[in-house]
Amino acid sequence: MAKKQFKAESKRLLDLMINSIYTHKEIFLRELISNASDAIDKLYYRSLTEGNTGLSRDDFSIRLEPDKEARTLKIIDNGMGMTKEELEKNLGTIAKSGSLDFKTEMEKKEDVDIIGQFGVGFYSAFMVSDKVTVVSKAYGEDVAYEWESTGADGYTIKDCEKEGNGTEITLLLKADTEDENYSQYLETYQIKNLINKYSDYIRYPIQMMVEHQ
Ligand code: ADP
Ligand code: MG
Repeated sequence: MAKKQFKAESKRLLDLMINSIYTHKEIFLRELISNASDAIDKLYYRSLTEGNTGLSRDDFSIRLEPDKEARTLKIIDNGMGMTKEELEKNLGTIAKSGSLDFKTEMEKKEDVDIIGQFGVGFYSAFMVSDKVTVVSKAYGEDVAYEWESTGADGYTIKDCEKEGNGTEITLLLKADTEDENYSQYLETYQIKNLINKYSDYIRYPIQMMVEHQ
């Protein structure tokens, strides 16, 4: 399948993320959970204003699924989801000024300890992943789409199957190096630590699939 190219600015930010020497790579989880929460907010808000969605607050949750064998971590929400156009637009372009500010700061400084001040967003997933796959089905739509990228050389979008609305993000974690332990993001205790540290304020339940060892 032909790869689509990221917009120039996005590509630069992505390059920065992929080659990041930044030490707080763990914030990727905060970013993805916050996006999941935003997507649920959107649908919850709609259910309040439209009243005919049949959805209540208790229906919403964020799920985390580490899989050591596959070396993947999934972040799953049952929020608003994205159409094909939204996948293209939201993940192929830098949507937010925060990312740009961050990029500017990061390019200015050698030793970067600034990531926490910015909402770096979705692309932070590439600090810890060789491949990021996003399967999404927009609320009220019949078709689902899969967006996939191994980094700055572009992304693909294709039709796929998915039950129910929402978004499922699969991170194929990078191989460990002498300096970086990416396998820690497959450990439930570590994932819990990160949730406590960064995602305490999230108002929807965060559930974790615990692997049978
Ligand atoms: P921000 O959250 O500040 O807008 P991000 O880079 O984190 O920036 O995300 C970019 C956009 O991608 C979001 O604004 C949203 O439209 C879309 N998006 C990301 N994750 C999800 C998700 N789980 N569900 C629905 N849309 C999402
Ligand atoms: Mg975000």
